[in-house]
Amino acid sequence: MQDTPITADAIVIGAGVIGCDVAYELARHGRSVIVVDRGPGAGHGSTSASSACIRFNYSTFTAVAVSWEAKQRWIGWEEYLEGTDDGQLARFVQTGALCLESPGQQRSKVLGFFDRAGVPYEEWDAETLAARLPAIDPGRFWPPKRVTDDAFWDDAGGSLTAYWTPDGGFVDDPVFAAHNLMTAAVRKGARFRFRSAVTSVLRDDQRVLGVAIADGTRILAPLVVNVSGPHSGVVNGMAGVLDEFAITTRPMRQEVHHLTAPDGWNHEVPGPMVADLDLGTYFRGAPAGGLVVGGAEPECDELQWLDDADTYAPTVSKAVYEAQAYRAARRLPDLSVPNRPSGVVGVYDVSDDWVPIYDRTSLDGYYVAIGTSGNQFKNAPVVGQLINALVEAAEAGKDHDADPVSMTLPLTGLTIDLGDYSRRRHVDPDKSSFSVFG
Ligand SMILES: Cc1cc2nc3c(=O)[nH]c(=O)nc-3n(C[C@H](O)[C@H](O)[C@H](O)COP(=O)(O)OP(=O)(O)OC[C@H]3O[C@@H](n4cnc5c(N)ncnc54)[C@H](O)[C@@H]3O)c2cc1C
Repeated sequence: MQDTPITADAIVIGAGVIGCDVAYELARHGRSVIVVDRGPGAGHGSTSASSACIRFNYSTFTAVAVSWEAKQRWIGWEEYLEGTDDGQLARFVQTGALCLESPGQQRSKVLGFFDRAGVPYEEWDAETLAARLPAIDPGRFWPPKRVTDDAFWDDAGGSLTAYWTPDGGFVDDPVFAAHNLMTAAVRKGARFRFRSAVTSVLRDDQRVLGVAIADGTRILAPLVVNVSGPHSGVVNGMAGVLDEFAITTRPMRQEVHHLTAPDGWNHEVPGPMVADLDLGTYFRGAPAGGLVVGGAEPECDELQWLDDADTYAPTVSKAVYEAQAYRAARRLPDLSVPNRPSGVVGVYDVSDDWVPIYDRTSLDGYYVAIGTSGNQFKNAPVVGQLINALVEAAEAGKDHDADPVSMTLPLTGLTIDLGDYSRRRHVDPDKSSFSVFG
């Protein structure tokens, strides 16, 4: 504990992949930045469980544009970071991504966004799907069912179409990606304090003043950004801003399972990411012949909402493993499902519409990058720029709530409306899949 407060231009609460990018962008725009995290290192929160899939199918033009811009960052990672991380960097692995047809997907709208953003894609009928990805069963199984339901094993009722985005893939090490961003931020002068839980946000009536951490140290700064992942609501509570959010955030437990890919799925590169709302799952190939399988919140499954983001069963369960692995096995009939589950447990910070909140608040100087809803790892290298643009506009007196900031993304030249990420938006059924696909 220090009696004399530490000072900085900006404090970032949370050193996950997004917090580290926010720190990097604020630091490279000339601010002295302190990042505080209660954990032992960068990316040890929800980032550590991420499947790190890179895909572009989202429900708004803004979200598609951000994911497409972010992909350019991942392929130019070293250039973006202006260096390596002790000679190494996390790697983007391009595998392509397949999105299978399912009711209510608004495919023509999404493909229209791809046309506008310049995201390459191909539409596949069932024959093309079978020819291009022979390991896949293109059968239509909708609606998703529990594996304990006899109907789960019914024959397919027809065949699916799909669309294919050749630029999809995954990042091979999400924790290391966060570390890469931390290293880049440190090169720009940012300081990181680990094992330092924020216990209160300091403020007066109008403006944020800084934070206090568990050992009693006070850090003072005119800017504070809440990037605390599944703890976002708790930290917003400390800042006293919860009441003005039209969109709230809640932690949700998630399991991701690790299997061995069937023959014919991983070739020279791991097999593609498959978004399969027909069965209620997603999966992708992984290095060394692996297959990563996650869930897509089908209606038949009970969602595991948490009252406390720290209190949950930390190991994978047989029930969720069987649900997810057998769904993947219906799509990949040669997949074997061993008896013993293996995988990771993580926590999503889910917003009411599964769209993140990147915004200012009514407490001047207090910003949020929260509600990432299991779908924002890929966008991390752009989120810092969004927050920096918001900070610069709001601190210069612009009323972002009344007249939202728009921003032209530097690599793709696409212009987006940051009002789409507002904390004050109303849930719009046309602007979300209401699942992890955002
Ligand atoms: C199982 C799983 C699979 C996913 N798969 C994908 C995917 O395939 N593709 C995709 O794009 N996205 C995916 N995501 C989402 C993505 O990983 C997250 O959106 C992203 O990692 C969030 O990063 P963050 O920096 O906001 O949060 P976090 O990584 O959770 O970091 C928040 C940090 O804040 C710290 N913190 C919390 N409270 C305090 C406090 N009081 N004081 C100090 N520090 C505090 C924590 O210690 C933590 O390090 C997935 C997420 C999960 C959980």
